[in-house]
Amino acid sequence: MYGGTCVLLHLMLSTIGLAFWHFISFLFLFFFFQAKDGIRGAQESRGLGDVYKRQSQHGFDAKLLAGGQSLIPAMNFRLAQPAALIDLNTIPDLAYLRPQADGGLAVGAMTRHSTIEHDPLVAARAPLLRAMAPHIAHAQIRNRGTFGGSMAHSDPAGHWPTAALALQARFRIMGASGERWLDADDFFLSLFTTALQADELLAEVMLPPLPPRSRIGYQQVARQHGAFPLAGVAAVITLDERGRYQAARLVYLGAGEMPMIGAQAAKALLGQAPSSGVIAAAAEAAARYDVDPGGDIHASAAYRRHLVKVLTRRVLHEILPA
Ligand SMILES: Cc1cc2nc3c(=O)[nH]c(=O)nc-3n(C[C@H](O)[C@H](O)[C@H](O)COP(=O)(O)OP(=O)(O)OC[C@H]3O[C@@H](n4cnc5c(N)ncnc54)[C@H](O)[C@@H]3O)c2cc1C
Repeated sequence: MYGGTCVLLHLMLSTIGLAFWHFISFLFLFFFFQAKDGIRGAQESRGLGDVYKRQSQHGFDAKLLAGGQSLIPAMNFRLAQPAALIDLNTIPDLAYLRPQADGGLAVGAMTRHSTIEHDPLVAARAPLLRAMAPHIAHAQIRNRGTFGGSMAHSDPAGHWPTAALALQARFRIMGASGERWLDADDFFLSLFTTALQADELLAEVMLPPLPPRSRIGYQQVARQHGAFPLAGVAAVITLDERGRYQAARLVYLGAGEMPMIGAQAAKALLGQAPSSGVIAAAAEAAARYDVDPGGDIHASAAYRRHLVKVLTRRVLHEILPA
């Protein structure tokens, strides 16, 4: 837009022969293309080989740029000051949804939140993602933010890390020395920290199919629509043939340094027939033992713990009215 205006101005003024303004418009043009070239040189990547090369040159001082919805705000606040930005947007084949023969779904790292929100394949194969997607920020952010970027950023209140843990996803990591796979449980290490090394990138997340007789649910409380939740819970419940809880995976966001797995809540459910009493016991166990929330200007630790209890009850009743 700015470049186009400069070109137009330059042509107009050259035609009417105003030498001085001709010179000024030439300067505008010169600096515009200089800046544009500078950004290109710093960001564009010509393929994965090029990405690994730049990563090995700069180590953790280089940052991969995906949707930019977490990285750019962090740079604005000088919380991140990378020596090099490596743009993943110019690399083809990192954004895809691939149905797997076993009923699972492979999601390429550069797949946008909005694709996950609207694609019928996701609704059919990974309904938990479909249920959570509309809660992520606003439409504009969902149009740019990526599945892989969110995983790599590993925000303790992030929706996709929570979903990946609830679904027991697997992570395909690529680097100059080849590729490796990690389970979600081993990928997220702590606050904003994953198992990714400086010379690696997250290429794909593999979502396994839900076991038979499984149901999913998601509940959260946020101060306003589009804000990060104060607390939330994603649940994957599997029933046995008699309708009792056979497996339960509850994962809490905003309730600790990273998404927290509700191990004690699951223990309270397993083998039980769904009832209000069983659900209340699981909610109590989650709030008491499974989470470790901090307090901030938005909510105290005690209030977040209270939310964990309420949301556990809500999600379990939503999945299976008792
Ligand atoms: C106002 C606002 C509200 C938001 N609300 C929510 C919310 O409610 N829930 C939620 O989950 N998120 C929320 N977000 C964050 C949003 O979902 C981001 O899109 C996401 O966290 C990061 O994805 P990205 O593609 O933008 O990554 P970027 O910002 O580009 O990158 C984030 C980090 O991940 C690294 N990275 C990116 N891609 C890869 C890769 N493939 N391999 C290795 N490293 C990589 C980058 O180097 C960087 O360190 C919000 C953001 C904003 C600005």
